[in-house]
Amino acid sequence: CRASTAGSMVSLDNKLNSYMREVFIMTPNQLADEIYHQARLAGYDDCGIIPIEEMDEYQERLQERLQHVPGSRPFYEQIKPTMNSRQRFPWAKSIIICTWWMGRYSLPDSLQGKYARAFFLAPNVTMDDEEKRKKGAFKEWLTAQGLRWDGGDNGIPFQIGGLRHAAMKAGLGIIRKNNFLYTEHGSFVELEGFSIDASCVLRQHHDIKPCAPQCHLCQNHCPTQALSAPFTMNPLQCVSFWNTFGKSQLPPGFPEKAMESWIIGCDACQNACPYNQVPSAKPEKGVPELIRNAMHWLDPENMKDASDEVLKEKVLPLCHEHIQELDTLRRSAIRYLKNQKGQ
Ligand code: SF4
Ligand code: SF4
Repeated sequence: CRASTAGSMVSLDNKLNSYMREVFIMTPNQLADEIYHQARLAGYDDCGIIPIEEMDEYQERLQERLQHVPGSRPFYEQIKPTMNSRQRFPWAKSIIICTWWMGRYSLPDSLQGKYARAFFLAPNVTMDDEEKRKKGAFKEWLTAQGLRWDGGDNGIPFQIGGLRHAAMKAGLGIIRKNNFLYTEHGSFVELEGFSIDASCVLRQHHDIKPCAPQCHLCQNHCPTQALSAPFTMNPLQCVSFWNTFGKSQLPPGFPEKAMESWIIGCDACQNACPYNQVPSAKPEKGVPELIRNAMHWLDPENMKDASDEVLKEKVLPLCHEHIQELDTLRRSAIRYLKNQKGQ
């Protein structure tokens, strides 16, 4: 059978590559350079590599956040095990971290303030078949080198641990007061991390200015005060948590009006930031096809009554795996309409 012949050829290729890697072993620097080269071929905008031990610092940041915002404990306690990269991948030696600038695509004006760019412009929404093939080739290349790896776009949203922390350590950007990782293109950047069982390091350099001490625009624009202080945040007060993982069922005492006009996600603390208005952060491409095809159903009047089939086919693929239950979408659309009428 042709399929099994092709399968055994691939596995033979992988064995051969693994053997070649051992015989003609690459130095750590050569491996790091080659990983960078392959990541760029795959379409990532940038790539760095850090020793996995450097992920431990992220645990300390989590502890600090718990001390500053004790109310966030239930959320962080739940995700804590997924954030312990060394425990999850005891065989891993390094973390590859790659950036993908989502903000190069445009979100139609009529969707702004309702739908978050971080979901709607994610790579799995905007990529065409050729781009998907190229991106997939990076994983195939890692396997073909005989490397053990995990991560990438598997297991979104938590992937392999604290991705913003890893990107900062690898020199790909800085974390601003609104907690997002910024490259020179602003904060609408998808991060993908891979744990690998080889030791190598690659640090990039950037010239990105930190936040001005007197700037509080992101805090001032947060509709719920979830962003109560710089570099900290309470996810259990965040609009983006409640209209995704929280199934749009607000807890007692959380005012419906605080969700403002947001239906899926919330970009308020990023939209307010001057570093997302600079020329290098401006979109250079049009509206992705998947969004254009869903426009009718993204009108809240239509979304609230849409069938399961339509929501599954047209809207869920735009949610970047943050929404599983279709009624979440209907509840958010109904709330939007009520909030618009001022009820
Ligand atoms: S995403 Fe929205 S609710 Fe959450 S911290 Fe930012 S502005 Fe506040
Ligand atoms: S709005 Fe101001 S304080 Fe907030 S992240 Fe942007 S530059 Fe920093």
